[in-house]
Amino acid sequence: MKLFAIFGDPVSHSRSPLMHNCVFKNLNYKACYTRVHLLDGSKLKETFFSLGLSGANVTVPHKEEAYKACDEVRGFAKTVGVVNTLINENGKLIGYNTDADGFMYAIEEFGKVENVLILGAGGTAKALASRFMQDGIKVSVLNRSEGRLSYFKEIGCETSNWDSYSTKKYDLVVNTTSAGLKDEELPAPKEIIEDALANTSFVADAIYGKLTPFLRLAQEKNITFKDGADMLLGQGVLANELFVNKELKLEDIKIHMKKSFEL
Ligand code: NDP
Repeated sequence: MKLFAIFGDPVSHSRSPLMHNCVFKNLNYKACYTRVHLLDGSKLKETFFSLGLSGANVTVPHKEEAYKACDEVRGFAKTVGVVNTLINENGKLIGYNTDADGFMYAIEEFGKVENVLILGAGGTAKALASRFMQDGIKVSVLNRSEGRLSYFKEIGCETSNWDSYSTKKYDLVVNTTSAGLKDEELPAPKEIIEDALANTSFVADAIYGKLTPFLRLAQEKNITFKDGADMLLGQGVLANELFVNKELKLEDIKIHMKKSFEL
């Protein structure tokens, strides 16, 4: 029996155990997925191996620490320096990032998006910004503090903090901050959020399972919006495919993981 887990702080809200266990159970794959509340990200690697894990997901706020902890990083995670999926490959920790492709899957229904404002500058923002840039989408990033914006400047995004924000038109505004996850905060001061919402066609939030104050405001203004559930599904399907080392078909994983959202 293989053991998998999700590391995060907080982690009790995570739907990942339900999603992955639903796949394992229904497809008779001998594995179990649990959650680990990890306060100190620097303990990630030792905790992973002391629990005898075959693989794991990593959530807020440890994704950048997870990148550092890996013996080898593959694919898109290498570009962004952010890891959300870990695999134990013969005692070596291998890192991947499935968040960005999961998000692209989630916004397919918005059609062609050419201009995006990302709120926040953490691990998820990095993954999304790099992925958008890869597709030739213009990216602006707005963050509370200036420090984390340097990465985005380097890859060619427009950046601003709460003091330097100015009005522009966007196709999509996406919240990647953790504001609203365990509090009732907006990702930026209300006047900025109101302005951004008045100038966009679509809104998305990486947070799932609740209507954040940000999404509530978008709803009040009749803007088409979605929470992070489809992103969660997309990244989960791709992570599961890595966990089972392609022993299960991607389409079967998707069908059974999707069912877990009805539970
Ligand atoms: P990080 O900790 O790497 O980054 C958090 C970001 O949020 C930073 O830019 C930080 O700003 C900002 N922030 C935190 N609190 C506030 C606040 N009160 N007001 C404004 N800005 C704030 O987090 P991640 O990128 O790993 O995750 C971000 C969110 O995305 C989480 O809520 C997570 O649950 C969600 N997520 C959902 C996924 C899904 O599948 N649906 C996948 C991945 C993430 P500063 O730099 O100033 O500190």
